[in-house]
Amino acid sequence: MHTAKEVTLAEDGIHLRWDDGHQGFYPHRHLRAECRCAACINEFTGERMVGYDNIQEDVEAIEWMEVGRYALRFLWSDFHDTGIYPFDLLRSVCLCPEHAAEQAASAPEGS
Ligand SMILES: [Zn+2]
Ligand SMILES: [Zn+2]
Repeated sequence: MHTAKEVTLAEDGIHLRWDDGHQGFYPHRHLRAECRCAACINEFTGERMVGYDNIQEDVEAIEWMEVGRYALRFLWSDFHDTGIYPFDLLRSVCLCPEHAAEQAASAPEGS
């Protein structure tokens, strides 16, 4: 598993430098919408309760902390802070130019 070595909260989004040198990038709203806490995802049905469309456009991460050695936790400007983002989740939702192109290529038609 990769670990994030450096977290930078910038105006355009969150930048993560990984132990393999990868420069990850996450627009704030994109990452806020990936939150998997019990308030955002119904833990019984798996249904997403809070997603991209329910999140204010100008939301941003204002603070972050490490959770053990496996995840990051963010405090968002909408005061949401219960979400924990494991490193493997962060790697899979990365939107750096390289990964954004990959995800666009593998996205199902019309979505
Ligand atoms: Zn959440
Ligand atoms: Zn990436």
